[in-house]
Amino acid sequence: MAKFLLFVLVLAVIYLLVRASNRRGKPPPAAPTTEAMAQCAHCGVHFPLTESFSEAGRDYCCQDHRRLGAKP
Ligand SMILES: [Zn+2]
Repeated sequence: MAKFLLFVLVLAVIYLLVRASNRRGKPPPAAPTTEAMAQCAHCGVHFPLTESFSEAGRDYCCQDHRRLGAKP
């Protein structure tokens, strides 16, 4: 009976070790990637809103496209 308990204990330790190593291998679940995105009114490319060039209520990906204006 003692042998059986030891066997269960070893299995439990292996299980916990595997779980711990799996958790370490995964990337952290934090850091929400739902950054606000904008679409260039000229070329239609999507980019972070923080990098946008706005003019007349429209967003552009770069100064050139802002100068060229929106495409119909
Ligand atoms: Zn653009």
